Amino acid sequence: MARLSDPVTILKGVGPTKAKQFAALNIYTLEDLICHFPRAYEDRTKMVPIGQLEVDKPACFRAVVMNNPRTHHVRKGLDITKVQVADHSARLNLVFFNQKFTAEQLQYGREYVFYGTLSGDYMGYNMTSPSFEAPDSTPITTRRVLPIYPLTAGLSNASVVKAVQQALAICDPPAEILPPQVLEKYRILPAEQAYYAIHQPQSMAQADQARKRLIFEEFFVFSAGLALMRAARAVKKTPAYRNMDLQDFYSVLPFTLTGAQDRAIREIAADLQKGTPMNRLVQGDVGSGKTMVAAAVAYLTVQNGRQAALMAPTEILAEQHFASLSRLLTPLGVQVSLLTGSMTVKQKKQTRQCIEDGTAQLIVGTHALVSESTVFADLGLVIADEQHRFGVGQRSALSSKGQDPHVLVMSATPIPRTLALLMYGDLEVSVLDELPPGREPVDTFLVGESYRARINAFIRKQVAEGHQCYVVCPAVEEGEELNLKAAETWADTLQKTVFPELRIALLHGQMKGAQKEQVMGSFAAAQADVLVATTVIEVGVDVPNATLMVVEDADRFGLSQLHQLRGRVGRGGAKSYCILVSQNKNPETLARLKALCKTTDGFKIAEEDLALRGPGDFFGSRQSGLPVFRVASLSCDLQTLKLAQQASVEWIEAMGTSDTPESQALRSRIAQLFARSQGTMN
Ligand code: ADP
Ligand code: MG
Repeated sequence: MARLSDPVTILKGVGPTKAKQFAALNIYTLEDLICHFPRAYEDRTKMVPIGQLEVDKPACFRAVVMNNPRTHHVRKGLDITKVQVADHSARLNLVFFNQKFTAEQLQYGREYVFYGTLSGDYMGYNMTSPSFEAPDSTPITTRRVLPIYPLTAGLSNASVVKAVQQALAICDPPAEILPPQVLEKYRILPAEQAYYAIHQPQSMAQADQARKRLIFEEFFVFSAGLALMRAARAVKKTPAYRNMDLQDFYSVLPFTLTGAQDRAIREIAADLQKGTPMNRLVQGDVGSGKTMVAAAVAYLTVQNGRQAALMAPTEILAEQHFASLSRLLTPLGVQVSLLTGSMTVKQKKQTRQCIEDGTAQLIVGTHALVSESTVFADLGLVIADEQHRFGVGQRSALSSKGQDPHVLVMSATPIPRTLALLMYGDLEVSVLDELPPGREPVDTFLVGESYRARINAFIRKQVAEGHQCYVVCPAVEEGEELNLKAAETWADTLQKTVFPELRIALLHGQMKGAQKEQVMGSFAAAQADVLVATTVIEVGVDVPNATLMVVEDADRFGLSQLHQLRGRVGRGGAKSYCILVSQNKNPETLARLKALCKTTDGFKIAEEDLALRGPGDFFGSRQSGLPVFRVASLSCDLQTLKLAQQASVEWIEAMGTSDTPESQALRSRIAQLFARSQGTMN
């Protein structure tokens, strides 16, 4: 008997080459292999006589080979092998393209089981490249429900099938981790059966049952993990805030808060008076005014004698928050400091000194805040802006700088309910579902290259009216180099050949922090008319005078991302526009982009995006902080998610949070899942 931790190379037929291919799929051990689940199945159980085969309906049949296979070399790179087979009902011509070696194994006079799809017309019927095996062999490609695995270059489905089959024959699948009472109550297939059935189902129904079980398990593990964390936090203590007076704060605000902002602040204030650490998400569409909510909470924190830290994902954003928060709070006597990586060593040292001795009360910064040399006198509140952009490591590193500080995360990405349930299962949520008054929706258009002259004229017109424009260029996939060049070249072209009379500025991710700030600063100060940028401006940037955004190659962006980008305009009083330029002719792509022209509702757009692209890509790669699920798909397994969540809550209520021996396997699985996801959790 082999062990789950044994390398795949102990399997017959898995040498160094195969091992490398498996490694490309992150499969190293037998356990990895057994946990490499099929993405689909082909029902090859149906056997019919040749005479009853139907065109375009794949099926299995038994037949005898009627002649020796003959291969014709048609031209370079094209061999055709033909052979005729027959059963009691009919004859059938088989055709194989470039499969000489395989096809010529068919022996005249012998019987095989075939699986294939009949094609044909009035000229007659034939079948192209069927799979076949001897009737007395173990069914691999015929007479079964065939699992279809995710593959990689060079690795065939058949070799994965064989490897998995072997692995399951020589070692036991992973042990059961779900509590017996859960299995019973939710009528869940036991683990052992599920692992066999997902790889070697007797029927499609069985495959489905196995899949359900494994999805349930993933969701259960995940939500049990969240529930454990929530429970652990509930017993933590932190001094309750007592001074909740916001009168002075309100008196310096240049506007009245929206109802939604008010409500969020009240919800947060209630958390802060409880004496347990807060963990709350403020979610609001672009422009809904999250910064003011953060400011209010930071102010309360300082009024209660503790420090607040606001972490922004980019230097530009940190700068901007620093500017607006100090404008607002300095008159109220709050010491606001900035700490970013691009500051000079001396500046950083000075600021860190103030953070350590407590003179700095509200500290705005980038991940420089979490570096080891930053020590807080008494960190009471951590605010993470645009939280999905942070590695969770950074967020929790910042939290660990205080003694269980309150945590407030702010996200502009409207998260569909399904995802919110998962990502923030352990967070309380406040929603800013109201924009400040006077905002007009941004008019959005989708145009092709033929509109170039009109686009240029429109840019000129906006600038002539005293406004500014963004031109966004996509990240080119092959790497940053190209991306950089795209924005750079385009800026150059615009300046030299299109708008010699306008002031064109350039901003991209490869620029140094100080340089970026300088560009951004001068654009904000209206010293440039057009800012050509990559998606570095996606988050948070606030220049109310910008009224037009042109997105080049818009089809390269995700819908939610475009929505974020579009949020950069329409922030002042003037009517604003967004022009999506795309040469793409794919009707689906165009439909997707048109959806964006029709609505400015971030939630609707996010739902659409999620349905189209799946959660993995939803926030851009690896930024989602979402767990990596192996079987479960968030868009279609909502029902199972709900059940699993319910089950996990019941389980924790019954067990408490104590570490019982029975829950050991489950706990280690929870740890594994969260490690794989780089932990979404605080
Ligand atoms: P978010 O971070 O949610 O995208 P911001 O906090 O950057 O939004 O706010 C967007 C703009 O709206 C800012 O210029 C801000 O000063 C302004 N703003 C915020 N709250 C209000 C309000 N209640 N009334 C009017 N303007 C507001
Ligand atoms: Mg913001």
